[in-house]
Amino acid sequence: MINFTVGPVQSSEKVRMIGAENVPYFRTPEFSAVMLENEKLIKEFAGAEENARAVFITGSGTASMEASVINMFGKEDKLLIVNGGSFGARFVEICEIHEIPHTAIMLEHGKKLTQDMLDNYRGQGFTGFLVNLHETSTGVLYDADMIGRFCREEGLLLVVDAISAFLADQFNMAQVGADIMITGSQKALACPPGISLIVMSERAVSRIESRKVSSLYFDLKSALKNAERGQTPFTPAVGTLLQINARLKEIKESGGVEAEHKKIAALAADFRERIADLPLDICSESLSNAVTPLAVRNCSAYDIFMIIKDEYDMWICPNGGDMRDKIFRVGHIGCLTVEDNKKLSDALHDLVKRNILK
Ligand SMILES: *Cc1c(COP(=O)(O)O)cnc(C)c1O
Repeated sequence: MINFTVGPVQSSEKVRMIGAENVPYFRTPEFSAVMLENEKLIKEFAGAEENARAVFITGSGTASMEASVINMFGKEDKLLIVNGGSFGARFVEICEIHEIPHTAIMLEHGKKLTQDMLDNYRGQGFTGFLVNLHETSTGVLYDADMIGRFCREEGLLLVVDAISAFLADQFNMAQVGADIMITGSQKALACPPGISLIVMSERAVSRIESRKVSSLYFDLKSALKNAERGQTPFTPAVGTLLQINARLKEIKESGGVEAEHKKIAALAADFRERIADLPLDICSESLSNAVTPLAVRNCSAYDIFMIIKDEYDMWICPNGGDMRDKIFRVGHIGCLTVEDNKKLSDALHDLVKRNILK
């Protein structure tokens, strides 16, 4: 199988080899050294300021979304949330469950956030802003600089879910002025699922340290305290953290975050060129390098996903809800090559010949 989904994605051989080994005991100086290196490299790749911190949460990306929100905000806050798809809706749900006052900016699927939309919310007492930099469900990448500027001007704390954008799209925490950046192990980090991580600006760290949170597992104060010595409060997904370490070092050795962007951008551009003649429409106003969202015209997108899986041994990414039959997505993250793109493009062209894709 070739995996063109947006997570879990294909891992490098080095990362896979680590998965075959026994998981070591972790309350050791050796594992602490790995974790301190993980924090350092993640901060570097996120473009975080010197005094920023990063913690690793054992839990998928959603765990870190929820942890970030409840550690940063409470009932006294008023949050603005960009809701352009299922991940934006998840931030809304987190605020509903924890009774944090919020307003959602609803976007039509595929549409980007504009300055005019943001300007409607000036001077209304908001204290924080939640956004999924790349709304993976629709394939829309928001303008981080525009959002960062708005938050600076309005004095809002900015939480960025960059789970699928990290390493795929240009993003620099310090430049944007983000207080929190979240990502997960199974997207462009190309490791197994199970770990997510939170990078915090100095301002976010002091806010978190001054607040009380009603959670044991998601109390970031204790995660921060433990991370000072390269440890975690509870048993983490030790094996995945070792894989993340290998992967971060691979990225560093092959030119760092810029080189990684370029690689993913080139794969995305190659794929988009190969399928330009197909009866498929790219359905996002603002594309991420991580994924190409494609609308079908006269067939079911879900059927295409099933046929590609069962007859061509490749996974593309289906959509859920009301987009199920209209849209499928092709990911460009993980260990993929131009040859892989060619195979998928050939399969899709074959489906046209067979009058299935039309
Ligand atoms: C994948 C993803 C998540 C996290 O989903 P999990 O299934 O909890 O890992 C969150 N936000 C975005 C934008 C994502 O792409």
